[in-house]
Amino acid sequence: MCLRITMNADLERLIALQKLDTCAQDDEHWLVDEPGRLAALETRLETARQQVASAKQRLADNQNARRGVEKDVAVHQGRLSKFREQAMAVKTNQEYHAIQHEMAFAQAEIKTLEDRILELMVDADDLTAAVKKAEGALNADQKTVEAEKKALAAESVRLKAELDQLRAERHTLVGAIEPKVLAMFELVAKRRNGLAVAEARDGICTICHVRLRPQVFNTIRRNDEIIQCDTCQRILFFVPQPVASQAATGENARH
Ligand SMILES: [Zn+2]
Repeated sequence: MCLRITMNADLERLIALQKLDTCAQDDEHWLVDEPGRLAALETRLETARQQVASAKQRLADNQNARRGVEKDVAVHQGRLSKFREQAMAVKTNQEYHAIQHEMAFAQAEIKTLEDRILELMVDADDLTAAVKKAEGALNADQKTVEAEKKALAAESVRLKAELDQLRAERHTLVGAIEPKVLAMFELVAKRRNGLAVAEARDGICTICHVRLRPQVFNTIRRNDEIIQCDTCQRILFFVPQPVASQAATGENARH
């Protein structure tokens, strides 16, 4: 910021104070949100764990179903061999046909059940792949979350140290400000969500966007008085446009 050396000393201090306060506010907001960030990371891990658990459950259900069908096959095979023995010992044609009928029925049942086992085996391949995929995702999430937690912890330490520094700087700075001016700043800051200082540019207050009276704006341009915006009461300052950048803009415009 290119400020004239002739700027009112208290105005210059208020601008510096606003910078410290805005920075401290940002740090504080970040720190307040920290438990939420940690909770979101935990939720992410918990979701991944649940996905592994449900993939495993579906595979286990498939394996149980297969064991159940295999038991049924064994039952029908047992009946089939019993019928085969009986077929050797039958006395009449009628008995023989009856047993043949039972055997055909048992064989058809076995065929159906074996088809079902094949289906379950095919499903099991997909389900096993799904378990591996979910485990891989969980593993990746665990690494990411661990890294993010470390980064959050480091940021938290950095911001707390920065806040201490900002508070110390504030303490020194406010000691040098005229008490009445400081009281005005604190009052506006309290009413305006911590933002008590505003730049005036092109004749308007850049925060409430209300046009200033030309005479007031001209006074603000001099930066030698403490002037409040009529509308939002913020303390206004002016940033003179550096001559070099105006020249550069003109240069660029020609190309
Ligand atoms: Zn304003």
